[in-house]
Parts: sequence; structure tokens; C-alpha cells
Amino acid sequence: MIIDLISDTVTKPTKEMLAVMMNAKVGDDVFKMDPTVNELQEKVANMFGMEDALFFPSGTMANQAAIKLHTQPGDKLICDKYAHVYNYEGGGVAFNSGVTCNLINGNRGMFTAAQLEDIAKETPQIYLPFTKLVCIENTTNKGGGACWDFSEIKKIEKITKENNLKFHLDGARLFNAFVAKNETPKQYGQLFDTISICFSKGLGAPIGSLLLGSKNDIEQALRLRKLLGGGMRQVGFLAAAAIYALDNHVERLAEDHKKAQEIGAVLESVSYVTKIEPIETNIVIFYVDEKIGADNFINTMKDKNILLTPMGEGRIRIVTHLDYTNEMHEILLKELKNYQK
Ligand SMILES: *Cc1c(COP(=O)(O)O)cnc(C)c1O
Repeated sequence: MIIDLISDTVTKPTKEMLAVMMNAKVGDDVFKMDPTVNELQEKVANMFGMEDALFFPSGTMANQAAIKLHTQPGDKLICDKYAHVYNYEGGGVAFNSGVTCNLINGNRGMFTAAQLEDIAKETPQIYLPFTKLVCIENTTNKGGGACWDFSEIKKIEKITKENNLKFHLDGARLFNAFVAKNETPKQYGQLFDTISICFSKGLGAPIGSLLLGSKNDIEQALRLRKLLGGGMRQVGFLAAAAIYALDNHVERLAEDHKKAQEIGAVLESVSYVTKIEPIETNIVIFYVDEKIGADNFINTMKDKNILLTPMGEGRIRIVTHLDYTNEMHEILLKELKNYQK
């Protein structure tokens, strides 16, 4: 048995999800004729209280389309130094949109309204890149699944409005934040111009993301998705998985969070772990004694069929998910406890 804790993207569709997928009603979505895709888009737009939504093959493509529709080449966007749009999308902001990133030195992937204010208030000059967009991420990936304080997001939104900036949320793991902080989609729908969400992370679908926004923005996003090669045909089979995930896999995220806490408690108790980042959702980031070293630790665990990810600078990441069973959890906790014995 392999205990794969590399990411919450490693899950496979459950039997029930596969059954729903196989029975989906489909049509050609490029002609907007796939009833299941239409149902998903409408369902999620209503859930967030936003005008419209568009299905994408990946979160990266949804984010990239959003950035493209809010900017012109030569502009800049503002994001945290840990942002996925900056670090993990292949430099797509430059490639697709010709924009640069003004990075904020935040805490665990999150910055404050005060940090944003100085940059946002900059007087435009012909020699400066124009600031058009602020992107935040909730939960933060490189920040270890950290959740934003909603009141801080509200303050940031106010600054974006005052300075005529667009506001995008990379919500690849937004449902983890909803469950952890008892928040609702509508709270978020009110604050952002566009929001991307992923079904292929904690929600356990094999593929799929959605971009939410105004009618006008989503109409533009449709054109951009086509340009990026993301116009798909009988994709209702995948949208069915996303609908199933929304109906059945949201509340259970609490189980992933509980397991992450229990892993954290064991890591607290062993002497070879030197630091653990605060655990808020399903991501655990920790450091082991330099004498052991992150790579060596990861390799030793790999020999025991337990897969973990190095995150650079000695950081080791564990992500809990739908396919991480109670049985696997017991084995992992035991192996962590016994590591140096
Ligand atoms: C996973 C992820 C994405 C999208 O990734 P894809 O692999 O392209 O679906 C975007 N933002 C964050 C924060 C993520 O964790």
C-alpha cells in the first residue's frame, strides 16, 4: 500500500462519482450545448451570488484567463511572493498577458491591507507599469494551507475599489477555507471581480476548475479560453464529477483537516522535528533536524511507501485528502512516532 501525501490532487474518482460521470447528459460545450456543464456553471454562479461562471480544464488556465482579461501588456499585478500565479504557473503572467508581478513580502502567503496601500496609491507615471490587478490566494498553497482573515480581505477590497484596481481570488482550495473558518461562498462573491476554484484538489474530482465573474468578464473569458486551447466538447462527463464533488465532498474536508491536526500533534511530540507551521486546513509543513535533512527524511519515508514533498529551504509538506484513509493515517502516525527509534 502506498500512502501518497504529495498533494490532494492525487485522488481518484470514487465509485459513486464515476457512476454519475458515466450517466451524465452531454453535448458540444463549444456551442454551449452541454447541459451538465451549463448546470454546473449556473449552480456555482448562484452559490457565490455572481453573475456567471465558466468551466476550465485547469486552475492555471482559469487564473491566466482572469489575469489576461483584467490587464494589458506592460501592466502589473500585485500579489504575495508565495502566490501560485507567480511561482507555479510557468511564468504564464508574462507569457500570456505580458504583465509583471509586484510581489508583497507577506506572511505565509498573505499580506495586509497596510502593505498593499503604499503600492496601490502610487501616482501613475509614464515610466511606471500601470497597476491594474490585485490577486490573493485562499487557502495559500506555499503558505501551508493558511486561511485569510475575512476582515483583512474586506479592507483590501476597499483599497482596490478606491484605486480602481481589479480583484482576483485564486480559490483553488477555497472550500477548505469555507469549512475551516465557517464562511460562505456568497461572502466572497460580493468582494471579488473574479474567483477561480478547483474541483481536482480537496474536492476529489479528476479534473476541472471554474472561473466566476460578471456576465461581461465571463464572456471575455470564453474567448480567452478558446485562445488558450481550452474550449472542450462533451465535457459534461467531467462537469458531472464536479457537481458530485460539490454535493458530497465539501463537508468531509473537515476530516482532512482533523487528520492534518493529528499529524501535527505527533510532529510536536517528536524530538527530530524542529518546527511546524501553523496547521489550519489540510496542509502540514514542517522541518526536521539538520542532522537528518529534509531529503534524507523524505527518502527514508519513501522506502516505507510514504510519499511526502520537499518544498525548498528544508520544508517538508504533507497534504491530507479523500483517498488518505484511516488505516493509512494510523500507519503514518506510527511511522512518524518511531522514526528515530
Ligand atoms: C493547484 C492550484 C492551482 C491550479 O493548478 P492546476 O494544476 O493548474 O489546476 C492554482 N492555484 C493554487 C493556489 C493551487 O494550489
